[in-house]
Amino acid sequence: MRSPLTETVALVTGASSGIGAATARRLAEHGASVALVARRKDRLDELAAEIEKSGGVTLVVQADITDRGQAESAVQQVVERFGRLNTLINNAGLMLLGPVVGADAEEWERMIAINVQGLLYTTRAALPHLLRAAEDGPRRVADIVNISSIAGRLAWNGYGVYNLTKFGVNGFTESLRQEVTQRHVRVGVLEPGGVDTELGSHNTTEVRAAMIDPFYEQTEVLAADDIADGVAYMVTRPRHTAIGELWIMPTDQV
Ligand code: NDP
Repeated sequence: MRSPLTETVALVTGASSGIGAATARRLAEHGASVALVARRKDRLDELAAEIEKSGGVTLVVQADITDRGQAESAVQQVVERFGRLNTLINNAGLMLLGPVVGADAEEWERMIAINVQGLLYTTRAALPHLLRAAEDGPRRVADIVNISSIAGRLAWNGYGVYNLTKFGVNGFTESLRQEVTQRHVRVGVLEPGGVDTELGSHNTTEVRAAMIDPFYEQTEVLAADDIADGVAYMVTRPRHTAIGELWIMPTDQV
C-alpha cells in the first residue's frame, strides 16, 4: 500500500542516535526522503548507508543546531537537495540532572541551547517551506513534531532546568499549532517516558548512580522504536486530522 509519506521529505534533528535514528529509519520505511541532522557525522553516515541499503533516500547534514546559522543552513541544504520540506521532527536534546543549589550554570546553558534555542532556530527556518508544502504539495498538509518529554508535563526535584526546557517546548508547540493549523501545518508534541537511549549517559557518574541507573534497572523502559511508531502515527494521519499531543509511557512507569 502506498504510504502517505511517499515522495515527501523529512528532516530529523538528533538523528545520530536513539529516538532520532529510529524515527529516521521509520520515516524512510514509509517512503520519505530523510535528512539526518546532528553533529556526529560518522554516526549519520552509518545510518544513511543502512537506510540506503534498504532502498531509502537520505541526506547527511552535519550541524550544531544551537548555532542559528548552522540550523538555517541545515534546512537550506535539505531544500536545495530535495526541492521541498514536508515534515520536521525536532528531536535533538540533552538532559543533565541535579540540584539547582550549586549547579554548574554551563550545564543549564547547554540544555537551553539545544532543547529550546536549537528547536526554535530549526523551526523558524523550516516554517516557510512547510507552509509552502501545505499549500501546494501533493498531500496539502505538513508536519512538525516536537519531541518533548513526560518532563514537559510533570516536574520533579532534580529535573529543574530540563523541566523548564520541556515545559517550554510544550507551550511553544501549542502556541505555534494555533498560529498555523488553519494553513494545514500540523504542530504536535510527543512526550515520552523512559526510553533506552544515550540520553542519560551525558550526566556525571554521581547523577547517573543516584537519579538515572536505579530507574532503568527497575523499569521495563521503552525502545526508541516505540517512539518512532508514535511519530509515524502522527505524521501519517489524513489531512483533516491533527494529533496535537501524544504521551507515550512505559507501562511500568508511574
Ligand atoms: P540521545 O542522547 O540518544 O540523542 C540525542 C540526539 O541529539 C543525538 O543525536 C545528538 O547528536 C543530538 N544533539 C545533541 N546536541 C545537538 C546539537 N547541538 N546539534 C545537533 N544535534 C544535537 O537521546 P534520545 O534519543 O533519548 O533523545 C532524543 C529526544 O528525546 C531528546 O529531546 C530527549 O529530551 C527526548 N526524550 C528522551 C527520553 C528518554 O528517556 N531517552 C524521554 C523523554 C524525552 P550529536 O551528539 O551527534 O549532535
